[in-house]
Amino acid sequence: MGLFTRRKTVFVDCDILVIGGGMAGCGATYESRYWGRDLKICCVEKANIDRSGAVAQGLYAINTYMGMQWNENQPEDHVRYARNDLMGLVREDLGYDIARHVDSTVHKFEEWGLPIMKDPETGQYLREGKWQIMIHGESYKPIVAEAARKAATKVYNRIMVTHLLMDKTKPNRVAGAVGFNVRTGDFYVFRATAVIVAAGGASHIYKPRAVGEGMGRTWYAPWSSASAYALPILTGAKMMQMENRIVLTRFKDGYGPVGAYFLHLKTHTENAYGDEYESKWYDHTKELVGDYIDRQPVPTCLRNHAFLEETKAGRGPIRMVTKEAFQDPHKEAVGWENFLGMTIGQAVVWASQNIDPKHTNPELTTSEPYVMGSHATCSGAWASGPEDCAPSGYQWGYNRMMTVDGLFGAGDTIGGAAHKFSSGSFAEGRIAAKAAVNYVNDLGKDQPMVSEAEYKDLKRTVFQPMENYEVGRNEIVAGTVSPSYILPMQGLQRLEQIMDEYVGGISSNYTTNEPLLTRGLELLGMLNEDLNHIGAEDLHQLQRAWELQHRVLASRCVTQHTMFRTETRWPGYYYRADHPKLDDTDWHCFTLSQYDKDSENWDMEKVPVHHIID
Ligand SMILES: Cc1cc2nc3c(=O)[nH]c(=O)nc-3n(C[C@H](O)[C@H](O)[C@H](O)COP(=O)(O)OP(=O)(O)OC[C@H]3O[C@@H](n4cnc5c(N)ncnc54)[C@H](O)[C@@H]3O)c2cc1C
Repeated sequence: MGLFTRRKTVFVDCDILVIGGGMAGCGATYESRYWGRDLKICCVEKANIDRSGAVAQGLYAINTYMGMQWNENQPEDHVRYARNDLMGLVREDLGYDIARHVDSTVHKFEEWGLPIMKDPETGQYLREGKWQIMIHGESYKPIVAEAARKAATKVYNRIMVTHLLMDKTKPNRVAGAVGFNVRTGDFYVFRATAVIVAAGGASHIYKPRAVGEGMGRTWYAPWSSASAYALPILTGAKMMQMENRIVLTRFKDGYGPVGAYFLHLKTHTENAYGDEYESKWYDHTKELVGDYIDRQPVPTCLRNHAFLEETKAGRGPIRMVTKEAFQDPHKEAVGWENFLGMTIGQAVVWASQNIDPKHTNPELTTSEPYVMGSHATCSGAWASGPEDCAPSGYQWGYNRMMTVDGLFGAGDTIGGAAHKFSSGSFAEGRIAAKAAVNYVNDLGKDQPMVSEAEYKDLKRTVFQPMENYEVGRNEIVAGTVSPSYILPMQGLQRLEQIMDEYVGGISSNYTTNEPLLTRGLELLGMLNEDLNHIGAEDLHQLQRAWELQHRVLASRCVTQHTMFRTETRWPGYYYRADHPKLDDTDWHCFTLSQYDKDSENWDMEKVPVHHIID
């Protein structure tokens, strides 16, 4: 018996367990109650759902709204848009499914009290761009969370889920999850018939631009720790497109959003000498990707590509031309409010650097890469599609069920459906929940069983880092250094450096090749071995330790995928220097991986892309 396994174990039985109470998790919890009036529905969240996830600070725009009631866009249009932006490779069935349901989700937000800006004459929502509508969204997350709180049997805040539990009779069936309360240290065993993973994306797997004290200043939420990928990967669920990491062009140092500036304020960018530069890189980019550069709108990664090439040519910094727009008092107000509603830090950075965008054009930068499934990117789990429109190869069970029975996902968790954003993630949570309720009802008496030995083993494993610390601290040689353990921060910095230098991070200009990836995998393997010796001083560090475990596993998956796809599909997101061109002949396909935790092997495969929309 270890030092820390005497901690209390709390058992929770439920029909549906939602892991992560962000946008998708709140959508899943809300909808589970709608279809499953008598079911026991629990949501477990490592923070507090009132202010958790990527929308914690609020948003200024809902980025996915069709506007079908005013005949603005149709779901098919959105599929074409997302397909174009991702250079041909999206799960059109999943994207279509979200697009056809997303408007009703936004209407619910409004009904629950979210202020949406409207045209005073027509009453139509004010558009920031073709797909975006503008909101006063500082309280977006608490509003959405309230609906989930009212729907749930219980919301378990402050519990970090570390592992999924599998059925003891059917090996490919989920049976629940375990985790620990980050405040009390109690160990939780959730026994569930269906599990919906909605644990967000992954930041801090690559070294961020801001380091030292500033390392929390990333574009993507620093607490997005890849659990959405690691939890399913460990069960053997198939993952897709994990090479499709995203790089964002944002305002320098604060990562303030640029969408409202480009779309609503109609600003543009220029190089250090005041020249327009994107068109200069047209021929060069055409050489790499063919006619994708002629598509409208130009895919996000290709706009990054021109930015990166211009900077490499020594004509940076690239600036956003704000001086003209900010002469208009209305636009000036919108420019500032945009930050106050969602990234207040950018306003503070500008104030601290003497930047008044009315008089100074602010610098832009490109972020370190992140892994997520809901933005202009679509990494995540490989999921079964909707019955009525998914091609047969994409359909093996319930909608949004992964390749593990009873294991569902939504939002950043699910791959293939780019551009869902906050509203689409909530809508996808709803879609997954409806299917999960059907799964629970269909199962009848054939319920999954949790093995006592399994959760007892996991309890030992989960608290092992505290034991490592307790024992190893007697050998501290200097400061925080002990020969017996590594601390979560030390492990995190090592991970970020490996990913940065070998798997196409900022210091290598997002460039990698087979030898670098091979060495990167070796180093990740060594880091993985050392994670058995991670030390956690307290419960906070224990959470950091498990976040690191999840980040490392997701990073290994990203690296395997990057190695497998021998082309450069998305220049501007990353480059395979040994395969610098887009190759539609061999790689107009999805990449899938499946991890075997016993052999530690990754099985890679290509799956055809089916187009269901013309
Ligand atoms: C900087 C930024 C700006 C954005 N701007 C916009 C915008 O302007 N408009 C728009 O519509 N969308 C925007 N988005 C996109 C939107 O925020 C995401 O699409 C959406 O939040 C994804 O939903 P999700 O539920 O998958 O993840 P999240 O909302 O991030 O929720 C994940 C939840 O899981 C929890 N969790 C994670 N791991 C665990 C674990 N192991 N155990 C328990 N809980 C866990 C987290 O604490 C979190 O609450 C933006 C995203 C970012 C990062």
